[in-house]
Amino acid sequence: MHIVVCIKQVPDSAQIRVHPVTNTIMRQGVPAIVNPYDLFSLEEALRLKDKYGGRVTVLTMGPPMAEAALRKCLAYGADEAVLVTDRAFAGSDTLATSFALASAIRQIQNDMAVDLVFAGKQTIDGDTAQVGPGIAKRLDLQLLTYVSKIESLDLEKREITVHRRAEGGVQVLKTKTPALITMLEGVNEMRFATMPNMFRAARYPLKVWDKDAAGIEDVTKIGLKGSPTIVSKVFAPTAKSQKASMIETESGDPRDIAITLLTKLFTQHPKLEKEIGKRAA
Ligand SMILES: Cc1cc2nc3c(=O)[nH]c(=O)nc-3n(C[C@H](O)[C@H](O)[C@H](O)COP(=O)(O)OP(=O)(O)OC[C@H]3O[C@@H](n4cnc5c(N)ncnc54)[C@H](O)[C@@H]3O)c2cc1C
Repeated sequence: MHIVVCIKQVPDSAQIRVHPVTNTIMRQGVPAIVNPYDLFSLEEALRLKDKYGGRVTVLTMGPPMAEAALRKCLAYGADEAVLVTDRAFAGSDTLATSFALASAIRQIQNDMAVDLVFAGKQTIDGDTAQVGPGIAKRLDLQLLTYVSKIESLDLEKREITVHRRAEGGVQVLKTKTPALITMLEGVNEMRFATMPNMFRAARYPLKVWDKDAAGIEDVTKIGLKGSPTIVSKVFAPTAKSQKASMIETESGDPRDIAITLLTKLFTQHPKLEKEIGKRAA
């Protein structure tokens, strides 16, 4: 069994500050970490390897410094690591990122077929949750998002059954592999790095791929050229001064609750009642 886990190096958002005057993000001196959501996926991949054997390859696209994130994952127990890095990737949005990662996974497949790809639910910096599904689409993989548990994996039948957290309940989904899975946060706990793995991680000859090695021929699909997303404005939300307040009603009757709420709203915004009346007329 071969599992590829996509991980991203991100700034530790707990230590990021917004400049009080310019409203820009102050990144200086902020340590880089493995995106925390990716660790839930890596741990699940390592558990599957413990159970079924095989290989776990970690993959990232990023600047040369992302090497540290890959070595961290090797210390946790990943077997192989690939860093896709090239100036041509600068400015990539989620479309270009998923294109580059999908190409790299195709190259990884040349060495050993891939049964499962894991990605984090989302990142703590970009936060779009688009890259995993983007890779699945490009590689024609079954997509299993927000997975809370891997119920079973049948390598011979190439079938996987998972629990997926959905609004209001849990879905039990069975599908074919190869599949791409994004794990929910909090569903497992990352193991400690062992001493032998730490030594191995430090000495491991990382695979560093430029765009050519990642199998990318069409440069219009990567970097700024391949990124149609436009970030028109970045700003820090203004702090809300209003505090939440408790509203008590005489009974739990929905009409009673609605009337109490409306009365409170009309008291706070006296013109609202007239406006609603006008619109309704
Ligand atoms: C217009 C635009 C320009 C940008 N320019 C730059 C730039 O110049 N430099 C820059 O660093 N960023 C840039 N970004 C941000 C970059 O596009 C995103 O960081 C990247 O596409 C991942 O998106 P995300 O962080 O929302 O990931 P999500 O979709 O939230 O990530 C989900 C999961 O996908 C996987 N994943 C995501 N990214 C990677 C990765 N790189 N390698 C491996 N796995 C990954 C992880 O498992 C992650 O948990 C730009 C974004 C936009 C919109």
